[in-house]
Amino acid sequence: MGTYAVTGAASGMGAAVVDRLVGDGHTVIGVDIKEADVVADLSTPEGRRTAATAVLDRAGGVLDGAVLAAGLGPAPGRDRARLIAEVNYLGVVELLEAWRPALAAAERAKVVVFSSNSTTTMPMVPRRAVRALLDRDVPKALGSLRMFGKMAPSFAYGASKIAVSQWVRRQAVTREWAGAGIRLNAIAPGAILTPLLEQQLATPAEAKRINAFPVPIGGFGDPGQLAAWVVFMLSDAADFLCGSVVFVDGGSDAWFRADDW
Ligand code: NAD
Repeated sequence: MGTYAVTGAASGMGAAVVDRLVGDGHTVIGVDIKEADVVADLSTPEGRRTAATAVLDRAGGVLDGAVLAAGLGPAPGRDRARLIAEVNYLGVVELLEAWRPALAAAERAKVVVFSSNSTTTMPMVPRRAVRALLDRDVPKALGSLRMFGKMAPSFAYGASKIAVSQWVRRQAVTREWAGAGIRLNAIAPGAILTPLLEQQLATPAEAKRINAFPVPIGGFGDPGQLAAWVVFMLSDAADFLCGSVVFVDGGSDAWFRADDW
């Protein structure tokens, strides 16, 4: 049995992953802003440091895997774009960098990062914002999104998920990650019925947009099924999976870019 760190453990897909891992007999160290083994605010540098250190202390320096599910969806609000950039991007890469030695200390450790199918289905996400996030310059990223006004949180969301996917793919194949035996991959869900999506559906204009979005299979995804994919990507079956972004989105990504190869 292994020891796994799971961020976003208190709700939605993170909570569903925790249930499955615990049900399989593993030890889980949950991180969240509320109701978790490690309570920390991943939107601040101090909160990210606290989370990183507290998990390492509890894990005794060895982690068999990590799941980075903490995230904020697009929603109105003055500070929302910044929170999205900090939690969805820095809340992934800073924690994983801190945990990397503990992952390397395990045999065949596996990491699954939550990306999104917004990476390939959302038009007009400014590359400047993505580059700024990859440079860890959040103010610069926010500056390049200012022209979107009230829509800035949506574009911050798209940029955060593109940046985190690029980071995964760039790092996954390096000596520090693949070379240390760590399998680093991402999952890109479509619309999954969790509190995050329910919050978006509560706004009539957002609900209209979401319901009009092409999903060839129809409906919304189920958090428990997504958790099953994540647990599969943590299993021995994923020993040869490295730097992949696995889309589980009812066909939207294929619908938009079937010929994009
Ligand atoms: P959710 O809202 O149910 O869970 C997200 C968790 O992140 C919550 O427990 C929340 O407390 C935690 N969190 C938020 N801000 C935090 C902070 N500052 N510090 C610590 N924890 C914080 O959402 P979900 O739908 O289960 O989303 C999980 C992941 O999947 C997210 O990264 C999200 O972007 C991604 N995703 C979701 C969907 C969807 O349709 N639900 C689609 C694509 C990608």
